[in-house]
Amino acid sequence: MAPEKRSNAVKPKSKTQTKFIFVSGGVISGIGKGITSASIGAILRAKGYSVSPVKVDMYLNQDAGTIRPQEHGEVWVTKDGIETDQDLGHYERFTGENILRANYVTTGQIYAEVLRKERAFEYDGEDVEAIPHVTDEIIRRWQAAGKGYDFCLIELGGTVGEYQNAIFFEATRIMKLRDTQSVLHIHVAYLPIPSYLGEMKSKPVQQSVRVLNSMGIEPDLIVGRSEVPLDERRKERVALFCNVAKNYVLSNPDVSSIYEVPVILENQHAGELILNKFGLKPKQHDLRAWKKLVNTIKNVKKEIHIAVVGKYFGVGKFQLSDSYVSVIESIKHASWAHKVKPVLHWISSLEVEKKGAKTILGKYDGIVVPGGFGSRGTEGMIETIEYARKNKVPYLGLCYGMQMATIEFARNAAGLKGANTTEVDGKTPHPVIHIMPDQEKKLLNRDYGASMRLGGWDCVVARGTKTEAAYLALGLIGKTGKAKINERHRHRYEFNNQYRERLQKAGLVISGTSPDGKLVEIIELKDHPFFVGSQFHPEFQSQPLAPHPLFSAFIKAAVKLKNQ
Ligand code: GLN
Repeated sequence: MAPEKRSNAVKPKSKTQTKFIFVSGGVISGIGKGITSASIGAILRAKGYSVSPVKVDMYLNQDAGTIRPQEHGEVWVTKDGIETDQDLGHYERFTGENILRANYVTTGQIYAEVLRKERAFEYDGEDVEAIPHVTDEIIRRWQAAGKGYDFCLIELGGTVGEYQNAIFFEATRIMKLRDTQSVLHIHVAYLPIPSYLGEMKSKPVQQSVRVLNSMGIEPDLIVGRSEVPLDERRKERVALFCNVAKNYVLSNPDVSSIYEVPVILENQHAGELILNKFGLKPKQHDLRAWKKLVNTIKNVKKEIHIAVVGKYFGVGKFQLSDSYVSVIESIKHASWAHKVKPVLHWISSLEVEKKGAKTILGKYDGIVVPGGFGSRGTEGMIETIEYARKNKVPYLGLCYGMQMATIEFARNAAGLKGANTTEVDGKTPHPVIHIMPDQEKKLLNRDYGASMRLGGWDCVVARGTKTEAAYLALGLIGKTGKAKINERHRHRYEFNNQYRERLQKAGLVISGTSPDGKLVEIIELKDHPFFVGSQFHPEFQSQPLAPHPLFSAFIKAAVKLKNQ
């Protein structure tokens, strides 16, 4: 959709002297450094400043596209088409800024560029060294990402003290040395409560700050992550041993919703403390929308049960939620907007294959089939979709979920026996989904990195469809003229136009295509409360304060049905 319309971003001013805020993590990984950074971004935005959030990942991959999702969670896609860490998704959701390619930095990108420059004799015969050449390249990237913004908020991946990320810490030290006034370091660290003691311990934080000190870095602000809020005594200890004033030790306890974090940090004056360090004052105070949202999250009671049916990796809930984080968040955003409490049910399509759709899916208010790859579990997805279509259960198909819906319709409504995608069955008599022509060559050449159809593409929505109604309801397209939207993609296969007419004749509605009409981007069904599949991933553009129209219309239909 038109991001300009959705984003509440403060437009960057080109002459601004950018301030850099680094966020590092200590003690253990996985403590929510990304959410803390995103929340600080949301707070600074609410104070009237523009923010460019950056994520630094320490691995040698050049992007997240070639990493197994089990390994690294969801692959998130920016508008300009880079595959990134899921934290960037949180940044966009929390700040409303349009995150771009420049906002994602990996060790692999840095070294690739340094090595390219060396081969191109761009170092004029110098011997190329980690310091200053690698650190300079890192700093150049950060400055480029921050250009024109008031703040560049940089999350350093990994935990302090690791061998792999040390060079990035070194680059922060050099930046501060060059311009003390424009750099601030926030350290997010964990305070455990060992069960045999029942008492919160601050020593690990002290030690991780020592490691920072040994690299020549003194944090300006410390955020203590813990199960419960830090008490005054703990704050005093951390302040004393870590060399910061007590009010610069903030508490960030476990909460039931990540969207509470900006409010929790702001209640401790995080925004003013940060602005003070730079000699700045808030231009406005406006966390009202967030506070209202938190209120809704805490008070909605009426439940809506949504089944998410896919081929799941592993069984752990943690892994699942990590691999589909944007889908989960999008369902939540839309549900809260309709004042219901979403309850998600993870269903393996292999279970559906074993036990049958009716047994497994009988009790849900809506069904989602999210993105996916490969053949395992696809028959179960198709069975699921047939169930949703015939029993008029609201259905939303995301990328693979749209392709599977096309196959289901081809087989069971258009009589095309054995229809499939060539991704699953290269010999299918009816390849209703097939590989995009340029993709075939790429796969043959083993050109896997960043080679899918990626990023934001324009799409024209057909008038008089459910899709049109969904976008119209949120004011994202006009009532007349071309209904143009822009949505994010990540796929190699597409709807086969040779089957377009046959499927349309059988009742399939094509409710969105590329502007030249050649690529089918959205399908839907008539005579059904809500049945829509999109080739793109709407979940990449849903925000807590601005839910995505397709998710919103899906949840609305589910709520309506439940009320009947
Ligand atoms: N596997 C499918 C494709 O490559 C769908 C991809 C997805 O769901 N992201 O087209």
